[in-house]
Amino acid sequence: MTNSAKKFDAKKFDVCIIGAGPGGYVAAIRAAQLGLKVGIVEANQLGGICLNWGCIPTKALLKSAEVNHLLHNLEQFGFSAEKVKFDFAKIIERSRDVSKKLSGGIAGLMKKNKIEVISGFAKFLDAKKIAVGDEEIEATYFIIATGARARVIPGMEPDVENIWTYREAMTPKALPKSLLVVGSGAIGSEFASFYRNMGSEVTLIEMAENILPVEDEEISKLARKSFERQGIKIHTGAALKSLKKGKGSVTATVEIAGKLEEITAEKVIMAVGIVANVENLGLEKTKVKTEDKSKGGRIIANGYLETAEPNIFAIGDVVGAPWLAHKASHEGSIAAEKIASKLGKYDAKKIHPIKVENIPGCTYSMPQIASVGLTEKKAKETGKKIKVGRFPYMANGKAIAAGETEGLIKVIFDEKTGELLGAHLIGAEVTEMIQGYVIAKQAELTEEDLMHTIFAHPTMSEMMHEAVLDAYGKVIHF
Ligand SMILES: Cc1cc2nc3c(=O)[nH]c(=O)nc-3n(C[C@H](O)[C@H](O)[C@H](O)COP(=O)(O)OP(=O)(O)OC[C@H]3O[C@@H](n4cnc5c(N)ncnc54)[C@H](O)[C@@H]3O)c2cc1C
Repeated sequence: MTNSAKKFDAKKFDVCIIGAGPGGYVAAIRAAQLGLKVGIVEANQLGGICLNWGCIPTKALLKSAEVNHLLHNLEQFGFSAEKVKFDFAKIIERSRDVSKKLSGGIAGLMKKNKIEVISGFAKFLDAKKIAVGDEEIEATYFIIATGARARVIPGMEPDVENIWTYREAMTPKALPKSLLVVGSGAIGSEFASFYRNMGSEVTLIEMAENILPVEDEEISKLARKSFERQGIKIHTGAALKSLKKGKGSVTATVEIAGKLEEITAEKVIMAVGIVANVENLGLEKTKVKTEDKSKGGRIIANGYLETAEPNIFAIGDVVGAPWLAHKASHEGSIAAEKIASKLGKYDAKKIHPIKVENIPGCTYSMPQIASVGLTEKKAKETGKKIKVGRFPYMANGKAIAAGETEGLIKVIFDEKTGELLGAHLIGAEVTEMIQGYVIAKQAELTEEDLMHTIFAHPTMSEMMHEAVLDAYGKVIHF
């Protein structure tokens, strides 16, 4: 990264982006493609949480856990291996190397697109000007892409040693013998899965009735069964009351079904939500509005990512859920195009607001979980008559051949119109398969279109077809 804005003659941009995560850097590239003069300010590392501390390093860790699992389950494929060992430090090092490589790649992309990268923490002086250290930077438009951070519960603050956030959980010095994961959203469930597959004793607690509470209930229940079969202890409806640090361990007091219970573990991972990074940004110098702090403090923006200040846009985690990299990136493109249209460099008619119902959500645990659109419960709440189809992995040839017979594909249609309302998947490769249903939803395909689509054989994606057929009483292989 170039060191400071001092190096450049021009401190005036058409658009200046604050934060170079998957929201900010994509917005920068798209704006540059549209012929705008672009600057991007980053306080830490290019690539943001996603590349450095989120999506990518966790997937590298989960790959190692998958390899470990396979090496301990070789017999079904006719293999055996003795004295299977792993070097935990190398597993962590690989994950860090993958992040470093990708972050370096973003620096290359900035250079290629002639985007000026400015290191430092940006603060608004007024709606058209920010300060980064001693420098002042002016821009016609700004995009705030400052992301979010882990929520901290007062009195249960992470201490780096024994009470971890995702950062420490990603860079441990050694494999903990026992671990308590608080919160079973995607982040909590992925860490529970990683550490269990590496050999830790894992307990997962969740305040809601089901783990992965945003997912379809049927899928959450299947995930719970599978996690428990793998040896993860799970408590739902469980409220964490306190954490007491001992010597090399932490004791959590948890209220489960009205009773207080103590759970002691070597380490605790707190995965209890996200708060927007809006502090010290100088937002009070602008008309940008934020939600109440108790609700996460997100910046309020419309479907085109416009805030209450006409020349300031906000994208990604800082504007709220779903906190996903692909949502941040897509919002980055929308904001860049909207700004270009205002500067007469793009056709405004081509820009569409973000459709939350078409954003897929994936959890890369073992088994994987992926979904898009409404859950069965939410679909029923709309008052529409629905049709539900299911297809199990154990009836799919490719899944059986691959030794992956655990899982289910579930689809929900509007009975009247044939609109695909939701798709919910659990099992091997579902984080790749979900995209088929996302395209179907985006293109507003009906059950007829999906039924007339030919799926290659043998593939796991054939189950996507069969689930649709099942919703209409036409399933073939089950
Ligand atoms: C453990 C974990 C796993 C995850 N896994 C996935 C996954 O598998 N898939 C998925 O889609 N999402 C995943 N996420 C979520 C994903 O990382 C975020 O949704 C995504 O990074 C949000 O992008 P963003 O650009 O909005 O913000 P960020 O990536 O948070 O980037 C914001 C950037 O802004 C910078 N910044 C903040 N304030 C300032 C300032 N004032 N001046 C200058 N710079 C500033 C920060 O340093 C940061 O680099 C995961 C998150 C975590 C924590």
